[in-house]
Amino acid sequence: MTEHVMKILIIGDGKVGKSSFVQRYVNGKFNSTYKTTVGADFSVKVLQWSDKEKVRLHLWDIAGQERFISMTRAYYKGALGCVVMFDVTSSSSFLRCLHWKQDLDNKAMLPNGDSIPCILLANKCDLSQWVVSTDSINKFSQANGFIAWMVTSVKDNKNIEEAMRRLVEEILSVQ
Ligand code: GDP
Repeated sequence: MTEHVMKILIIGDGKVGKSSFVQRYVNGKFNSTYKTTVGADFSVKVLQWSDKEKVRLHLWDIAGQERFISMTRAYYKGALGCVVMFDVTSSSSFLRCLHWKQDLDNKAMLPNGDSIPCILLANKCDLSQWVVSTDSINKFSQANGFIAWMVTSVKDNKNIEEAMRRLVEEILSVQ
């Protein structure tokens, strides 16, 4: 049995759903009043990937931009994959994804110097008041080197497993 250990960063503005995403993915729960514990901690999820492979994910949930100022390279060190998340009802959270991606690429890279695989998630798709068009997300994703983008709803448990599976596939393929 081979076990792959992967450090994955979950980044994006505050309130877009990052800690809810981790909570949903790891514990299968959604709680609208769930509060993040402060500190650069990680959650663990183990996947039986194939007959002979396990994947142990260490999910590092960064808090909102206010805490980001104090984030150091140590936070990014050793990361093999990244989720950049925004909220489809917040155009500012979408615009800030450029900053998040650039910052990631400045501070983290694979041992061979390539940028680390990163998926863009358009969260809260269950809400009706979208302010970001799929066309602009598509263009942004392609222009900025994301491996893919997906709509998600942590609330409705839509595309959570699928998004992480897509990211893990990419990580395994570049190793
Ligand atoms: P974080 O600051 O990025 O970690 O965001 P949180 O996980 O704390 O989520 C912020 C708020 O958005 C909370 O009230 C969540 O319940 C809510 N939320 C998260 N994901 C979704 C979603 O997919 N749909 C809806 N409607 N609300 C969500």
